[in-house]
Amino acid sequence: MHYISTRGNSSPKSFTDILLAGLAPDGGLYLPESYPRVTPDELTEWRGLPYHALAFKVLEKFIDDIPFADLKALIDRTYTAAVYCNVRLGEDASEITPLRTLAPGLHLLELSNGPTLAFKDMAMQLLGNLFEYVLGKSGAELNILGATSGDTGSSAEYAMRGKRGIHVFMLSPYGKMSRFQTAQMFSLQDPNIFNIAVQGVFDDCQDIVKAVSNDHAFKEKYRIGTVNSINWARVAAQIVYYFKGYFAATKSNDEQVSFAVPSGNFGNICAGHIARMMGLPIRKLILATNENDVLDEFFRSGVYRPRPTAQTFQTSSPSMDISKASNFERFVFDLVGRDASTIRELWGQVDGGGAFDLSSTAQFARIAEYGFVSGASCHADRLATIRRVWSQYGVMIDTHTADGLKVGLEKNDSGIPLVCLETALPIKFEDTLREALNREPERPVGLDGIEDLAQRFEVMAVDAQAVKDYIAAHAERMRPAS
Ligand SMILES: *Cc1c(COP(=O)(O)O)cnc(C)c1O
Repeated sequence: MHYISTRGNSSPKSFTDILLAGLAPDGGLYLPESYPRVTPDELTEWRGLPYHALAFKVLEKFIDDIPFADLKALIDRTYTAAVYCNVRLGEDASEITPLRTLAPGLHLLELSNGPTLAFKDMAMQLLGNLFEYVLGKSGAELNILGATSGDTGSSAEYAMRGKRGIHVFMLSPYGKMSRFQTAQMFSLQDPNIFNIAVQGVFDDCQDIVKAVSNDHAFKEKYRIGTVNSINWARVAAQIVYYFKGYFAATKSNDEQVSFAVPSGNFGNICAGHIARMMGLPIRKLILATNENDVLDEFFRSGVYRPRPTAQTFQTSSPSMDISKASNFERFVFDLVGRDASTIRELWGQVDGGGAFDLSSTAQFARIAEYGFVSGASCHADRLATIRRVWSQYGVMIDTHTADGLKVGLEKNDSGIPLVCLETALPIKFEDTLREALNREPERPVGLDGIEDLAQRFEVMAVDAQAVKDYIAAHAERMRPAS
């Protein structure tokens, strides 16, 4: 399988070629040159498979340059009950993503049973094993640099901890993450993990990452890489659970389901779009935003108008606080008939700080064919949904999942089962849960007292040079060949 850039000016690449890459050299995002189709026979065969076997079936369609036996072993190791063990009482961890039925035709797909209690573990754990495998083959090293406001950073650290050939430098705004999230990250004692607490806000952290990445000599010398949400392997890994959720919510492949997806950078729902393009019978892909509604605006109006970062609202579903959606270009590439010149034109406007308007185009007129609908949710909606789900079903949901459920219930077609993706567990956003329910959020076993563990982090000023010096002193280096 070849991967092409949405901007059309990069040479086609194989899966392992793009595994460690971010953007394509022409500034675009990589996508398969065509989507593999799933036959009715395959759907029938896949229905009964356990998660790791299903993951292999889906991923082998996208990964053809890792020997099958190696890929299979790597996937089997990734999706095990030992890793996704944070299930609710009475549930089976070997399901990896159990489907929790709230009422007939209304389900939560639990994607947050991994080590950091958010759906990002589903893909990041695979990425950790893929990186280690590919680096091991070539004898190369990688220093991962990232900025996080919470979920991504901890997920990356738990995926990369102890991995050979990999060091992680993760910048976070000092004192701005929840106590639980801070404890999750800073209590890691693995020598290959470096937490850098920056005396600023999240945007300062991101600016430092950009400044370091723009120093091409430094980047090359220290083999700096990223694990951000545009990474193709992350999107690919996320396709699997749409199949798993579909099978769990239906009895036969003649049925359809809709998925509600709490969205930020459009990575999660992009995987749903690809599952649908592969032939999975998805009725609606219901995109939910919070107060940062740049994507909802597009699906309602055809206008994509990224906001300046200074206008990003800080909300109680913080992992969806984005001003522009980094994966969105992948979907628009399909929407405009995979015409790279149109993408270059549209993103020429976006990259220059502007917007684009597809409202009067023939392509936008056909958007319903892609199954997308959207809506937005606000703090009051979030609280009301958390309270309602708790009082009606006795289930505690987190703030992001609440956004998804609120919009999903509004926008689904009647008579079609709704599967809302549960993107995090409530303990990660404990303050809002307390505000909604006036009680302590549930805590998975084994995480009691995590806040009291010794913490390991470096406090630094908003200073890109200081961060570079720190990386230079602690980077994973070329080891002499033995
Ligand atoms: C990252 C994240 C999201 C947004 O996912 P995207 O792939 O960026 O759309 C939603 N909810 C939670 C809890 C997250 O961590």
